[in-house]
Amino acid sequence: MNEAQSELMDWLRDAHAMEKQAETMLSSTADRLDDYPELQAKLRQHYEETCEQARLVGQCLERLGEDTSTVKDVMGKTTAMAQAFSGVFASDEVVKAAMASYTFEHMEIAAYRTLIAAAELVGDHETKRVCEMILPQEEAMAKWLQERLATVTQQFLTREMGSESSIRR
Ligand code: MG
Ligand code: FE
Repeated sequence: MNEAQSELMDWLRDAHAMEKQAETMLSSTADRLDDYPELQAKLRQHYEETCEQARLVGQCLERLGEDTSTVKDVMGKTTAMAQAFSGVFASDEVVKAAMASYTFEHMEIAAYRTLIAAAELVGDHETKRVCEMILPQEEAMAKWLQERLATVTQQFLTREMGSESSIRR
């Protein structure tokens, strides 16, 4: 394996860890958003996509000779982003969750763009194909969140003001 191939392998491991982390974050966050059913449903839908992404990236790693036990080790790895995301949310957790999800999707977009370029350079057509299939899913999720950040924020603030006035009464 040459230098470029070994870098690609490293980045694939990172991407796999990122997706495993996303699985955890999406499901645990969605479970706490009963008051925001639209956002909750979207996070659950993206959770399904994310499980498949993790599986596909794992397959790429195995095809390149990574043994399964190492792949499992990688699953436990957490990124700084993930740690920030999984922190204790305050009462404004829906806003924090929307911001964190939006940020996370952009990290994923950057990771897959990098992987596509690297796979192309080393001639790994299968990894390139897989990453090109995943990238639009991350872009669609980022776009969906972008369009709803303002709504979610205003919904939250409106509800907060509503509960304040009911306490005063
Ligand atoms: Mg993903
Ligand atoms: Fe994603």
